[in-house]
Amino acid sequence: MQIEINAVPALNDNYIWVIHTAAHDHCVVIDPGEAAPIIRWLEQHHKRPAAILLTHHHYDHVNGVEALNNQFNPKIWGPVDERMPEDTQPLSEGDHVDIPELELNFEVLEVPAHTRSHIAFFGHQMLFCGDTLFSAGCGRLFEGTPAQMLAALDKLGALPGDTRVYCGHEYSQSNCEFALQVEPENSALQTRAEQVKKLREHDRVTLPTTIAEERRYNPFMRTRETDVIAAAKSIEPEIESAPEAVLGAIRRWKDAH
Ligand code: ZN
Ligand code: FE
Repeated sequence: MQIEINAVPALNDNYIWVIHTAAHDHCVVIDPGEAAPIIRWLEQHHKRPAAILLTHHHYDHVNGVEALNNQFNPKIWGPVDERMPEDTQPLSEGDHVDIPELELNFEVLEVPAHTRSHIAFFGHQMLFCGDTLFSAGCGRLFEGTPAQMLAALDKLGALPGDTRVYCGHEYSQSNCEFALQVEPENSALQTRAEQVKKLREHDRVTLPTTIAEERRYNPFMRTRETDVIAAAKSIEPEIESAPEAVLGAIRRWKDAH
């Protein structure tokens, strides 16, 4: 069975991911932050969602749920959090989401940091990670600590290198620009930054990347590298060399960017 993944652009820079196949009328929708573009896509492709997977409660990931629910009544899965949309079936670490309509199964990974209940979905060599891991970046720490983001990125970084990474936003270009300030000598990053620049000139999607690629050029996954530690200390000289301290410093640097 050939699985296809589509990025449906929504709001300013969100992607609503859709998993579908030629053989099935059903599809899976991840993080529908806006109703109109995903409903248009479903109508054009004659698909109906069997399930909606939600990574976290932020409006730009859930705002389309109510309209999809009214029209298609899919199963809705997401983290344990009272701020999730009505009818969300709660998931915890190690749970499996089974989608028999498409013969798909995803493992749930808890990755609190961007929000305290953020989860990611892993299966079929794919990772849907919402606002935790971006290409060459990571989510803002709204409800978590640098140590929690370090643990989350270590957990995602331990997945097989060929895992394809589907992030919640098209942030690759600004992330690469910042990452080059942290690691100007990183040749994998230089190559990626060029690739992203060309893709964005043609308004193309820069995702998915892979876990192996992110390990090579994502500064937030490289907080144990000498160059990244040195860059963090050039901004905040008083920090320790521990990876959570380095992650905290480069996250604050990026926030002020
Ligand atoms: Zn978010
Ligand atoms: Fe978001």
